Amino acid sequence: MTERVAIIGAGFAGLCMAIRLARAGVTSFTVYEKADDLGGVWRDNTYPGAGCDVPSHLYSYSFAPREDWSRAFPLQPELLRYLHECADDHGIRPRIRFGTEITAATYDETAHRWELRTADGQVRHARVLVTAVGQLNRPKYPDHPGLADFTGTAFHSARWNHGHDLTGETVGVIGTGPSAVQFIPRIAPHVRTLRVFQRSANWVMPKWDYRYGPVHQALFTTATGRLAFRGGWFAFADTVLYSAIRGGRLGKAVEYLCRRQLRTQVADPGLRAKLTPDFPLGCKRVLISDDYLPALARDNVEVITERITRFTSRGVLTADGTEHALDTLIHGTGFTATEFLAPIAVTGRGGRLLREEAWADGAAAFLGMTVPGFPNLFLLYGPNTNLGNNSVVLMIEAQVRHVLSCLSAMERDGRSESEVSPGAFEAYRRHVEAALGGTVWQAGCTSWYKTGTGKITNNWPHRAARYRKLTRHPAALRSTSPRRPRQS
Ligand code: NAP
Repeated sequence: MTERVAIIGAGFAGLCMAIRLARAGVTSFTVYEKADDLGGVWRDNTYPGAGCDVPSHLYSYSFAPREDWSRAFPLQPELLRYLHECADDHGIRPRIRFGTEITAATYDETAHRWELRTADGQVRHARVLVTAVGQLNRPKYPDHPGLADFTGTAFHSARWNHGHDLTGETVGVIGTGPSAVQFIPRIAPHVRTLRVFQRSANWVMPKWDYRYGPVHQALFTTATGRLAFRGGWFAFADTVLYSAIRGGRLGKAVEYLCRRQLRTQVADPGLRAKLTPDFPLGCKRVLISDDYLPALARDNVEVITERITRFTSRGVLTADGTEHALDTLIHGTGFTATEFLAPIAVTGRGGRLLREEAWADGAAAFLGMTVPGFPNLFLLYGPNTNLGNNSVVLMIEAQVRHVLSCLSAMERDGRSESEVSPGAFEAYRRHVEAALGGTVWQAGCTSWYKTGTGKITNNWPHRAARYRKLTRHPAALRSTSPRRPRQS
C-alpha cells in the first residue's frame, strides 16, 4: 500500500503537519515516531527547570490558541501537555505509529514514491515524505578523551537521570548554554558542591518571567486579547530582538541590560570577569534568565574556566593539571545540530545520497525544505530556518502551509512529483549565503549554528516575517514545480 504522505517525527513540526493535513481532509498519512510518546524536544528535555524562553502565546500554534497558559514563559510539562491536547483535539494520536524508527528513505523513480525502512525491518511506502525530526534531537557529548573512564554517574541534560538523587553530591556540569542555564539554578541549592565547566561566557538577559493572574486570564478568554499578546510579542521579537542579535543599535540596549544584570547579581569582580563574554551579543543564542547568575554566585558553586583536557575515573582533568573529583557529571553540551536528518539514510534520484553527497559541504535546501534530486521530499525545520530571536513555531507553520500548497498543486495538475529546480535551489542558496555573510554569527564564537568548517547551516538570515512572506509568495511556490511533469 502506498500512502499519500509519511511524516517522520511527532514533535511540534510533525504534529503541525499532521493536524493541517487532517484539517485539509487528507486521510492517507501516517506519522512515524521512534519514541513511545509524542512531543519531540518537549518529551526528551525533562531536566529540572526545563522550559521555553519564548512566550507561550507565541510558542504555540496559531490555530490552537490557549486561554489558560499559566505563565509568560511555559515550562516543559505545560508544553508537553499542550502538544498532547493538540494531538487529541485533532484526532492525530491514532495516526501516529509509536516506537517506529525510520532508518532509511529511498526514492523509487519508477513508482514515484518513497520507500521507508524501519529499524525493525518493515518497509512502508508513501508518495510524499515530510521529515520533522528537528535540529536538536541528538545529544552531543564532549569530545575530550576518557569519557568512558569516569566511574561516577554521568548523563546528558536531554536524557536526565531522574532516578539519581543529586542531594549532597559533588556535581560537575559541562556547558553553559540555554539548557544548563535552566537546570543549574534548580540543582545548585541541593548539591554539596557544583563545579561548572565553562568554555565560553555568555550574554545573559533578564527573563522577567511571571505567572498570569486573573486580569491576564480574563484578557485571554477573548480572541482579541490573545491575538494582541501574540502579535505584540511577535512584533517585539521581529524588531527589537532581531535588531539586537544582528548587531543593530538596539543591541546596545540589550547589552546594557545584560551588563547591568551581571553587575547587580554578581558581587565578586573575579567571577564577574569570568562571566563577561568576549564575543558580540547575538553571535550565539542570548541566554534569558533571572536566576542563573545568582546561582553561579552561590558559595557552593565554582565556575571553572580552565580548558578540559580529559576525563579520568574520578572526574575531570583541566589544563592546569587539576583533577576535579566528581560524584556525578552532567553534559549540558547540546546537540549535533548541523547533522540534519542523521542518522536516516536518505537516497534520491540516481542513488544520490542526501547527507553524504548532496550535503557534503553542509546542509542546504530551497526555503529550508526542498532539495533538487529528492522529489516529493519536504523538510520541516530544515537548513537555515532556525531563529535566534523569535518563535520557531512560526517558521514551522509557514513550512506546513507551503507543503500543503505543493500537495494541492500536484493534485490540481495531476502530477505525481514535485521537485525544486536546480536553478531555483542554487539562486536561493546563493542568496542565503550572501545574506549570512558578515552577520554577527560569524563573529568569532563557537555555536551550533555552524559546521566544523564555519558554514552557517542552521540560521535564517532575515526576519521571521520575511520567511513567512517568501513561503507564501506564488513565485516561491512556482519554483517547486517539477522538472519533468509526469502524470500519476
Ligand atoms: P548549546 O547551546 O549547544 O550549548 C552547549 C554548551 O556546552 C555550550 O556552553 C558549549 O560551550 C558547551 N560545550 C560543548 N561541548 C563542549 C566541550 N567539549 N567542552 C566544554 N564545553 C562544551 O546546547 P543547549 O544548552 O542544550 O542548547 C541548545 C539549544 O536548544 C539552544 O540554543 C536553544 O535553541 C535550545 N534550547 C532552547 C531553550 C528555550 O528556552 N527555548 C532551552 C534550552 C535549549 P561553547 O559555548 O564554548 O561552545
